[in-house]
Amino acid sequence: MTQTAKFVIVGGGLEGLAIAWSLADRGETDVLVLERDTLCSGMTGKSSGVVRCHYGTPSLAAMSWYGVDIFTRATEIFGDDMAFRQCGYVVGVGENNIDPLKANVAMMQGLGIDVDYIGHDKMAELWPGLHLDDFAAFAYEPLGGRGEAYMAGMAFGASARKLGVKIRQSTPVASLLQNADGRVYGVTLTNGDEVHAEQVILATGPWAPELGAGVGVDIPVKAQRAQLVLIDQGVPTPEVPVLSDLAGLQYICREPNGELLVGNSDHAAPEYIDPDKYSNRADDSTIEKNIGKLGNRLPDMPDPRITSSYVGAYDVTPDYNPIIGPAPVDGLFLATGFSGHGFKISPAVGRLVADMLLDDGTTSLPNVEPSDFRYSRFEEGDLLFSLHPYEGAGEMR
Ligand SMILES: Cc1cc2nc3c(=O)[nH]c(=O)nc-3n(C[C@H](O)[C@H](O)[C@H](O)COP(=O)(O)OP(=O)(O)OC[C@H]3O[C@@H](n4cnc5c(N)ncnc54)[C@H](O)[C@@H]3O)c2cc1C
Repeated sequence: MTQTAKFVIVGGGLEGLAIAWSLADRGETDVLVLERDTLCSGMTGKSSGVVRCHYGTPSLAAMSWYGVDIFTRATEIFGDDMAFRQCGYVVGVGENNIDPLKANVAMMQGLGIDVDYIGHDKMAELWPGLHLDDFAAFAYEPLGGRGEAYMAGMAFGASARKLGVKIRQSTPVASLLQNADGRVYGVTLTNGDEVHAEQVILATGPWAPELGAGVGVDIPVKAQRAQLVLIDQGVPTPEVPVLSDLAGLQYICREPNGELLVGNSDHAAPEYIDPDKYSNRADDSTIEKNIGKLGNRLPDMPDPRITSSYVGAYDVTPDYNPIIGPAPVDGLFLATGFSGHGFKISPAVGRLVADMLLDDGTTSLPNVEPSDFRYSRFEEGDLLFSLHPYEGAGEMR
């Protein structure tokens, strides 16, 4: 059987659904999303959901700032708050990272982002009990915080459906269809059916390389293991900001139930995994390391215990920035390699992709340069690195 749609989106995760909604929001409703499993069952379900604009790449900071606005107005736009909690976001650095902190804050302020320095006294007020001596400076985003990537994805999906987008779950794409001129003109499903399209958008996260390879497109995305540990301090943690602890190279978020979610910000020795085959439990050495670091940061936890752990995979590119743009074969558009940034920028990703597809590769998103995310930057050797990287924190910021 053969069907047609103007736009076929492969992958019903957060980015595929944000793109579907954004296309429909611009009046393009002949859109079909194909998801092999259930919606947001990929890495979206593993996201920590941190919302911050603190980046050393102006386009990424601007995309995050756009995300803050959409998440803040989510109920008005989608009828669903996407579980966004505007608890604030703080980056704390040691002496070694004061210069990049200053440069990044100046860059963000130049983009109109609400961020400023706070002193140790204000930080102690925001998070009582936190050990602060090894921090030299803090940057605070009062409008940052945490959301739920799964709920955001489902809200994009539900709103897209209301506008006429079709979403099919349990519908794996086996391969992309390519004609003799190299143009991608649709997809083949695992049951043998074909769907023909003017544009195929590949939004399959860490699973993108295999489908790309089938049409001769080498997508430089790897699945990097990310281990998360949940800790109960013994008493519920009060509302506190999300903390990027660049002195201890960890991040700490308060869960809605008062537990703490602790993740690693040390990407010096990344571990790559098969995204279809990995243990969903953090290993003992990581748990031990996380507990040690958290214990240094919160020395007075009354009765700490680990409540659970899990593992996800960041879809990382060589410069830890996404690939958003046309593939080197006609008819195929790439939206993958989000490298741990994909939640906060998802509203901007949707709009950027819709704009680029409908407005000849341009966008009206403020301060976002679409060519930053072009596929060809890798073979050109013109990678999109942070302008002001932090020592020890790798490229994931
Ligand atoms: C552990 C972890 C923590 C994170 N924390 C943050 C954070 O704090 N803040 C932030 O901004 N970002 C964060 N991110 C990043 C963000 O969550 C992701 O970038 C985003 O959710 C990815 O969405 P996606 O749609 O690209 O990919 P996915 O959610 O993985 O969706 C891809 C979909 O494609 C489907 N698919 C694959 N192959 C096929 C096929 N052949 N046919 C049909 N469907 C297919 C999959 O089933 C999947 O549903 C984190 C990511 C991880 C892993």
